[in-house]
Amino acid sequence: MPKKDLYEILGVDRNASQEEIKKAYRRLAKKYHPDLNPGDKEAEQKFKEINEAYEILSDPQKRAQYDQFGHAAFEQGGFQQGGFGDFTQGGFDFDFGGFGDIFGDIFSDFFGTGRRKAEKGPKKGADIRYDLTLTFEEAAFGTEKEIEVERFEVCDVCHGTGVKPGSRPETCPVCHGTGEIRQTQNTPFGRIVNIRTCPRCHGEGKIITDPCQKCGGTGRIRKRRKIKVTIPAGIDEGQMLTLRGEGEPGLRGGPNGDLYIVIHVKPHEIFKREGYDVYVKIPISFADAALGGEIKIPTLDGMVSFTIPEGTQTGTKFKLRGKGIPHIGGRGRGDQIVEVYVEVPKRLSEKQKELLREFKRLEGENTAEHKSFFQRMRDAFGGS
Ligand SMILES: [Zn+2]
Ligand SMILES: [Zn+2]
Repeated sequence: MPKKDLYEILGVDRNASQEEIKKAYRRLAKKYHPDLNPGDKEAEQKFKEINEAYEILSDPQKRAQYDQFGHAAFEQGGFQQGGFGDFTQGGFDFDFGGFGDIFGDIFSDFFGTGRRKAEKGPKKGADIRYDLTLTFEEAAFGTEKEIEVERFEVCDVCHGTGVKPGSRPETCPVCHGTGEIRQTQNTPFGRIVNIRTCPRCHGEGKIITDPCQKCGGTGRIRKRRKIKVTIPAGIDEGQMLTLRGEGEPGLRGGPNGDLYIVIHVKPHEIFKREGYDVYVKIPISFADAALGGEIKIPTLDGMVSFTIPEGTQTGTKFKLRGKGIPHIGGRGRGDQIVEVYVEVPKRLSEKQKELLREFKRLEGENTAEHKSFFQRMRDAFGGS
């Protein structure tokens, strides 16, 4: 059940002053007090709600959190339980190390620039995306591929320090090595201590006066690197493989990012894929269609023989069980669906023509379908 809005419970405006909130609470608490409403369950419930709402809205700090995050601010360990790291009492000196960047960003927007450990501490490297195109068969049966990815690697000259060998980094003159700049600000919520990352050294506390020439002081260089990738059988267009730790290197001892390989599959000349099934359309001769017989069908495993029955029509579909794509990461395979179409011969020998003329004579208009079709046509057009 969605929780009621705390301001609504107290019947006050969102911009109400602390004094207005207090007044509203007193009035409502008196009205719904259990002593004045004995046995009234509804009043008891109301009284509980009013108290809960007042507990949060009467405290400017909790009220601010509620305004930002709603009820979520007080759930799952909430803010008071230290779920978001150390809370310094009496001020807004947060430690953001305990929660993710999203909350950190919201909070720094609200309270000014917060101090975030993420800026100084270990940071995961960025992920890399790589688009890999496979042939139809490679996707079906899996393969090994060697791909070349460009990414940053630790500079082999300065070993990641960014400092020219033989020289040392100096203490930052702006922050004196702390990496942060503190500012105190008085606000309606009380005193806020703003802690900013030092703009000169970007929080490192040290500056490099004599940078490594190979990497320009960044400690990292861009390199192309070959990586072997195992493609599992059955993979399909748009699916993604994740190689953990093969992305950009982490910062300050953080883990590497991941490498995402996005799969593309080239269309096949004759096969079409739908899920794990393979579709193919094949021509059959007029004679085979009429008389039935053995035909050759291409499959992913090569040619197979298949016997079609007498009188097979264009558009008839046959299923070859287990001749489709292997299930990814599992057992079994999809099916192959074969659709046949009757090919009308274009070039005939004299002998063939003679036989067909003979066939036509014998056939006449005697087939049942022919008869009924022409009968319906005559009926429709009113002819004779
Ligand atoms: Zn270097
Ligand atoms: Zn500094």
